[in-house]
Amino acid sequence: MLSNLAVRDVETLVHPYTNLATFREQGPLVIERGEGIYVYDTAGKPYIEGLAGLWCTSLGFANAELVEAAREQMAKLPFSQIFAGRSHDPAIALGEKLKEIAPAAISKVFFCSSGSEANDTQVKLVWYMNNALGRPAKKKIISRIKAYHGVTIASASLTGLTANHADFDLPIANILHTACPHHYRFAEAGESEEAFATRLAAELEEMILREGPETVAAFIAEPVMGAGGVIVPPRTYFPKIQAVLERYDVMMIADEVICGFGRLGTLFGSTALDIRPDSISVAKALSSAYLPIGAVMIPERMYQAMLDESRKIGTFGHGYTYSGHPVAAAVALKTLEIYERDDIVGHAARVAVPFQRRLKALAEHPLIGEARGMGLVGALEIVADKASKAPYPTAKGVGARCTALALEEGLIVRNLGDSVALCPPLIITEAQVDDMFDRLTRALDGTRDWIA
Ligand code: PLP
Repeated sequence: MLSNLAVRDVETLVHPYTNLATFREQGPLVIERGEGIYVYDTAGKPYIEGLAGLWCTSLGFANAELVEAAREQMAKLPFSQIFAGRSHDPAIALGEKLKEIAPAAISKVFFCSSGSEANDTQVKLVWYMNNALGRPAKKKIISRIKAYHGVTIASASLTGLTANHADFDLPIANILHTACPHHYRFAEAGESEEAFATRLAAELEEMILREGPETVAAFIAEPVMGAGGVIVPPRTYFPKIQAVLERYDVMMIADEVICGFGRLGTLFGSTALDIRPDSISVAKALSSAYLPIGAVMIPERMYQAMLDESRKIGTFGHGYTYSGHPVAAAVALKTLEIYERDDIVGHAARVAVPFQRRLKALAEHPLIGEARGMGLVGALEIVADKASKAPYPTAKGVGARCTALALEEGLIVRNLGDSVALCPPLIITEAQVDDMFDRLTRALDGTRDWIA
């Protein structure tokens, strides 16, 4: 029996990333409040938020300082635009802070409200820049199979997942996808991680040469792929990829929307994976998700081209009503202050040790084919046969079953197909990590019993 709230939901809302057909029978889990790493449903049942919302509530729930930063700014100036030469302190201060901590030489910062908007802006800026530089053919952007870069028309095109393209008539022109660096799934028999990375870099080079380097503008990548299944590339993958990009003057865009701000135990994922980005997208943990905000960190060469276009056209014709929203910017600024003051990145790096130990130990579980992760993010891939890596039939819904059993245990995780992803708030303690994995182990055992 669905509760009154659930019935109203089913009659009213379209839920993102939901099987809209089965949802009509099952209804929603309605969450009412949160505190620390826990959220509570309408019946008062607590859950560990094992995915930090959607890989984003890095400081957990009910952080009083973030609430106060929002309240203060809301009372002082709830909105002001930054179009047409207007500005305000929170946007300026946040831009300065991002430039200071960026893992690359950044000239300017452009604000938006989400990761999708940030990546959409990246596509537009790459095209705009190459028009300004007098190379209008250099427009193609290479992404990767299984990448996740968002859902607007351009960012969904960058995304390399079938469900984001099928029947949406995507991807658009000029977006290509190269191989996914998932050794467990895509390496050839006996191929080492090193040889696999070498082959993927060679495949990228072949793609660039086939398309014509004069037509390839940029490559975009998450340091560790998130929604594609938490895929950690081989150690030498990015240096090899980066060498190819440099040979053909192809920009490296780092999508730090999940990995940015401590997730991998370093302030930015690019540092952990040896990426030297030209341009960077951030969102999510920028404000610990307390308010929607994203940003594109822009290199000088791109900014100069934007200046030239602006002179020619009369304006830089791009921007959102909520670009640099003062309340979102004030909350983001406070979030970055807390990261620094409380050494949240150092804490994440320390807790990542027991987190990865417990995660990797589950590779021994009879259902698990691969336990993979880095820092405070990981995934467990359920397989039907460990030796052949054969999956269960999709229709069996094994991953979804495990997620449902975890909910019964008071743990929110997300299954990406039959991979179960974990990405807790960065403030999680070692004892809470143990509790989380104890609950997940019981859910996995329950899944095994259900299959048998
Ligand atoms: N890029 C990455 C790496 C993401 O994980 C996401 C969202 O999960 C996005 C971009 C899109 O962000 P948003 O959902 O805020 O549009």
